Amino acid sequence: MSGSAAHKTDADAPVIGVLGGGQLARMLALAAIPLGLRVRCWDVSADAPAACVSELLVGDFGDEPTLARFAAGLLAATFEFENIPAGLARAIAARVATRPGPLALETGQDRIAEKTLLARLGVPVHAFACIDSMADLDAAIEGVVGLPCVIKTRRMGYDGKGQGVARTRDEAVALVHTLGGNGLIAERFVPFERELSMICVRGATGEVRTYPLIENRHAGGILRVSRAPAKGVSAQVGAAAANYAKRILDALEYVGVLTIEFFETREGLLANEIAPRVHNSGHWTIEGAVTSQFENHVRAVAGLPLGACDARESSAMVNLIGEIPPREAVLAIPGARLHLYDKPPRPGRKVGHVTITADACADLDAAVEAVRKLPGATG
Ligand code: AMP
Repeated sequence: MSGSAAHKTDADAPVIGVLGGGQLARMLALAAIPLGLRVRCWDVSADAPAACVSELLVGDFGDEPTLARFAAGLLAATFEFENIPAGLARAIAARVATRPGPLALETGQDRIAEKTLLARLGVPVHAFACIDSMADLDAAIEGVVGLPCVIKTRRMGYDGKGQGVARTRDEAVALVHTLGGNGLIAERFVPFERELSMICVRGATGEVRTYPLIENRHAGGILRVSRAPAKGVSAQVGAAAANYAKRILDALEYVGVLTIEFFETREGLLANEIAPRVHNSGHWTIEGAVTSQFENHVRAVAGLPLGACDARESSAMVNLIGEIPPREAVLAIPGARLHLYDKPPRPGRKVGHVTITADACADLDAAVEAVRKLPGATG
């Protein structure tokens, strides 16, 4: 071919900016490529998992020149984690369409703002109180949350970090001291039956779609296994969750994928928290749903029509934590699909996940058990 032939290449593809370059950004970039879109990530580390599938800018989140390079020529910007400085979100939003917008991010960063919004929207939440002093703690225990209760930092908590259960007032006082004294939330301890989540998405035109409810199993505060659709969910509970999702998405004028984490109790669902982003409990959608959460987030952020959120079959997702099993061992399990994040293993660190769909194996439960025997999948 002549060297002078002018033709459009993927180098001209519209670019979506993603703040953060972790595994979520990596899977967003992988979903963007077949749509003729590209991803530009901004991360503090040159080893970020998205490095090999995106344009990666490395710099501190306060760095003005990196902000200018990040925002230059973007179709739109988005986030792969919510704990970014609110000022930075606003600075990006002032330069380029930012989806979801800073309001959703700020709400998702603060457990009090989040639960206050949910309560205002009529989404059921368990009792909670803001703790900024020992007087607040006593008032909360006596009049609002009772004992046992859960005390958490309002901000920056993740994977069960920054929180603890108190059975007595003394334990609550000790927790308040350990967690830093103020900027805390106390919550009623919920004796839930199981934990469910819902991934939902709102497009640029306001269209809302929801994935089926997902059942999640945690250990040590970290998600271990998700199954979707969750078994034994009545049509009524599924419809209630979808209705809550629409209320939240519309109230935040949200564009993109949002995750709601629920406790299922005998009295119904209680919303525990929202994550204004794609989520670990939605990784099964890559193989298990008609459109993955990553593709739907990219579609929404790019202003494209949304894809169907139906589950193709039952699926399970098992996280790989702290250890990477041999590829051969994973792929020898019929139907197992391996996703590694290009992260050096460290204790407690999510380094990959395995998805199994019921149509690809004889017995989904047996396949999950086989995966759970692998190093990294056992917790
Ligand atoms: P979170 O950071 O709010 O997602 O909490 C981490 C995990 O702690 C949840 O997935 C639950 O297993 C547990 N947990 C959090 N809040 C409560 C609560 N109010 N009552 C009972 N368990 C809770």
